[in-house]
Amino acid sequence: MFKDQVVLVTGAGQGIGAEIAREFAKDGAIVAVVDFNQETAEKVSADIKAQGGQSVAFQADVSDTERAAEVVAAVVAQFGKLDVLVNNAGITRDSSLKKMTIEQWNAVIQTNLTGVYNYTKAAFDVMTTLGYGRIVNFSSLAAISGNFGQTNYSAAKAGVIGLTRTVALEGASKGVTANAVAPGFIQTPMTDKIPEEIKQKMISSIPVKRIGYPSDVAHAVKFFASKEAGYITGQVLEINGGMHI
Ligand code: NAP
Repeated sequence: MFKDQVVLVTGAGQGIGAEIAREFAKDGAIVAVVDFNQETAEKVSADIKAQGGQSVAFQADVSDTERAAEVVAAVVAQFGKLDVLVNNAGITRDSSLKKMTIEQWNAVIQTNLTGVYNYTKAAFDVMTTLGYGRIVNFSSLAAISGNFGQTNYSAAKAGVIGLTRTVALEGASKGVTANAVAPGFIQTPMTDKIPEEIKQKMISSIPVKRIGYPSDVAHAVKFFASKEAGYITGQVLEINGGMHI
């Protein structure tokens, strides 16, 4: 489905991003694996190559604007284009508003919102010039319903929705779509930190009665990234087992 397409996934060293990278590679894409952690980025990339796929790894902090331009330029120099950008990298620095520090606020805004801006800005030029592109951004249920202890995270993820809709408008006549996924509660190293008792409570409140898996999100990302989804843009798809019906 993605044969010979060039796909860049940020935060692809583990969790949902690693699953997305592997899924695109299985479908024939050339995958640029970008992560803060060089070791995990190289491991995912090496696994893809060991399975017969094509991949290249980059160490980068998504909040670094110059590095984003460098990484996108390196991908385009090597493969001649960039078909799909998945802005998956994200962090949490949870605290009630009363206790939140400006450092916690800034860290989350810089990674989860400025990071999306940085890679979208760099990729958008290439995609609009070539007349084709699919951008898939990561929002969250926390952006839609709010979440106790996540003022910073909810604000950044709500910002991603506004950014996505505007990029969708600006790219619409140039062959470039922009959409967002808003996962609920997905089993990854990010949520492994949550105490088991709280996890079980959360799972019992999910209508489908299970935690989500990275593959549940990866399939939705591939849908937005497909050529066939060219008439779908500026949308937010909630992937949460019915948590927000
Ligand atoms: P994860 O397991 O923590 O993985 C996130 C990846 O992003 C890690 O490999 C991490 O690298 C990387 N990363 C963090 N900061 C970065 C930066 N500044 N530059 C480059 N890479 C960076 O998280 P996940 O659960 O897979 O989450 C993926 C996305 O889904 C995030 O945007 C998250 O907010 C969103 N999401 C997740 C859930 C959920 O329930 N899991 C729910 C809603 C939304 P390190 O190895 O250095 O940490």
